[in-house]
Amino acid sequence: MSAPDVVVVGAGPAGLAAAATLGRHGAAVTVVDEQEQPGGQIYRRPPAGFTPPTAPSSAGRALLAEATAAPGVRWLADTTVWGVLGTRAGLDGYAGDQPAPGRYRVATHSPAGVRLLEPRAVLLTAGAYDLPVPFPGWTLPGVLTAGGVQTFVKAQGLLPGGRFVLAGGHPLLLVVAAQLVRAGARVVEVALVQRRRDLLPGPAGLAAVAGAGGKIAEGVGALRVLRRAGVPVRFATVVRRADGDPDLSAVTLAEVGPTGQPVPGTDREVPCDVLALGYGFVPSVELARQAGCAVTWDSPGGGWVVGHDEWLRTSVPGIAVAGELTGVAGAEQAAVEGRLAALGVLRDLGLLDERRAAALADPVRRELRRRRRFVTRVLDRFAPDRAALGSLVTDDTVLCRCEEVRAGDVRRALAANPHLGTANAVKLVTRAGMGLCQGRSCQPGLCQFICTLTGRGPEEVGAFTAQAPVKPVPLRALAVGDALPDTP
Ligand SMILES: Cc1cc2nc3c(=O)[nH]c(=O)nc-3n(C[C@H](O)[C@H](O)[C@H](O)COP(=O)(O)OP(=O)(O)OC[C@H]3O[C@@H](n4cnc5c(N)ncnc54)[C@H](O)[C@@H]3O)c2cc1C
Repeated sequence: MSAPDVVVVGAGPAGLAAAATLGRHGAAVTVVDEQEQPGGQIYRRPPAGFTPPTAPSSAGRALLAEATAAPGVRWLADTTVWGVLGTRAGLDGYAGDQPAPGRYRVATHSPAGVRLLEPRAVLLTAGAYDLPVPFPGWTLPGVLTAGGVQTFVKAQGLLPGGRFVLAGGHPLLLVVAAQLVRAGARVVEVALVQRRRDLLPGPAGLAAVAGAGGKIAEGVGALRVLRRAGVPVRFATVVRRADGDPDLSAVTLAEVGPTGQPVPGTDREVPCDVLALGYGFVPSVELARQAGCAVTWDSPGGGWVVGHDEWLRTSVPGIAVAGELTGVAGAEQAAVEGRLAALGVLRDLGLLDERRAAALADPVRRELRRRRRFVTRVLDRFAPDRAALGSLVTDDTVLCRCEEVRAGDVRRALAANPHLGTANAVKLVTRAGMGLCQGRSCQPGLCQFICTLTGRGPEEVGAFTAQAPVKPVPLRALAVGDALPDTP
C-alpha cells in the first residue's frame, strides 16, 4: 500500500467506525493514533505486554473487531499527527471544492521518525480532553483530571493515590468513581456541582432517553456501586481550593447556591491524596483549526467545535470531521458520525456513487438524529456553568502552568492595556499559552477570565491561533526534509 486515499486521525469510536466503513468500500486508509493500541479514550487498551484490568464493552469489542478486520486499513500506532501542511503557500490557495491528492501533507512523528502522508482526503477524529478548571491549588501534585485517573486504572491497573475526592459536573465522574471503587480505592466523596433536581429529566428529556438505555444503565450502575461502597455523592457542591505542601493533602468543598456561586459559610475541608476533576471535555480541534477549518462556539458541546455540512465535511475541501470535534456527545454518537463522515468521503472520492452513498447514509442519519436528541435534552444538564466556575479564580491562581502566568498578571495586563481583549493579544503581552502545551491546558480558563474581566463573549475573545506543531514533538520532527518514505 503506498499513498493512502484517506488518512484518519484518531482510533477512537469515530475513527474505528470510519476506518471500517472506508475499508469495506475499497478505500486505502491509514489510521494514525498516538496510543499503542486502537480504542481511543473509552475503549482504551493497555500497551502490549500488560494484562487489561478492564476489558472494553461488547460494543467496543465489536467495533474494534470490525475495524481491524476491514480490508485496506493500515494502522500507524504510537504516532502523533502534529500538523496538516499545505503543499503550496497555504491552505487558502486551494482551488475547487473536491478532495484531491497533493493538496496537503499530514505530518506525523513516531519513534521511527517523521512521516509525511499525502492522502486524497483527511478525516479528523481526534476526540477530546478533560476541561481544565483553574482555582487556587489546582496545579498541586495530586490534583488530576478524572480522565487522567481513569487512564491509570484502565491502561495499567494503577491507583495513583490512597484517598480520592472526585469533583466536577460531568457524568464521567460517577463512572470513574465506580471504577476506582471496583479497583479497591478509598473514595472519600464525589461532589457534583449541579443541584439534584436540575439533573432529573423533564417529560421531553424522558422521551429523548428512549433508545439511550446503555448510557442511563451505566450511570445507574455506577451510582449503585457507590451506594454499596458507602461513598457519599453530594450535589450542589463545588471544590473551591486544594491545599498541601508539597503534595495535595486536603480540599475545600462548599455548597453552591442557585446562581452557581459558593454559599458563604459552607466551606468544609476534606483530607485526601488525589483530587480528580471532571467538569466536562474540550474537543481537540487544534489540527482542524491549524488546517484552516472554520469553528464555532458551542458551550454545551465543549467550547470551539468544527463547523461541517450534512456529510461532516469542514470548510476546507477534503477535510472531514467526526466524533467529539463536532461537539462532545459520547462514544455512540462518535461512532455513528464516523460512519456518516466515511460515506461522505467515499462519495467525494468517487468510491461510492451519489445514490448509493445517500441510500447508505439514510439509516445512519436517522440514528444520528436519535442520538443527538438524547444528547441535547439530557447531557446538556451537565454542561459547565463557565461563568460560575470562572469566579473560583483568585489573583494568585495560576492560569498558564507552562509559563507560570497568574490571574493577577492577566488582570494587570488588561488594566494597563484596556484595548486588549482577545486571547491572542493577552498571549502576546503575558506569554500565557506560549508553553509546551500550546494553550491546550490554559486556553479555556484564560479565555473565561478575559470574558469576565472585559464583559466580552467567547466569540469576541476568540482562541489562540493554532500553529503546527499542535502537540509537543522533538525539534528534529520539524526537519521534514528527513521524512521517512511513506511505505508500510
Ligand atoms: C480521558 C478521557 C476519558 C474518557 N472516558 C470515557 C468513559 O469512560 N466513558 C465514556 O462514555 N466516555 C468517556 N470519554 C469521552 C470519550 O472521549 C468519548 O465518549 C468517545 O471516546 C469519543 O470518541 P472519539 O472517537 O470522538 O474520540 P476518542 O475516543 O477520544 O479518540 C480520539 C483518538 O485520537 C487520538 N489523537 C488525538 N489527537 C491526536 C494526534 N494529534 N495525533 C494522533 N492521534 C491523536 C487519541 O489518542 C485518541 O485515541 C472520555 C474522554 C476522555 C478525554
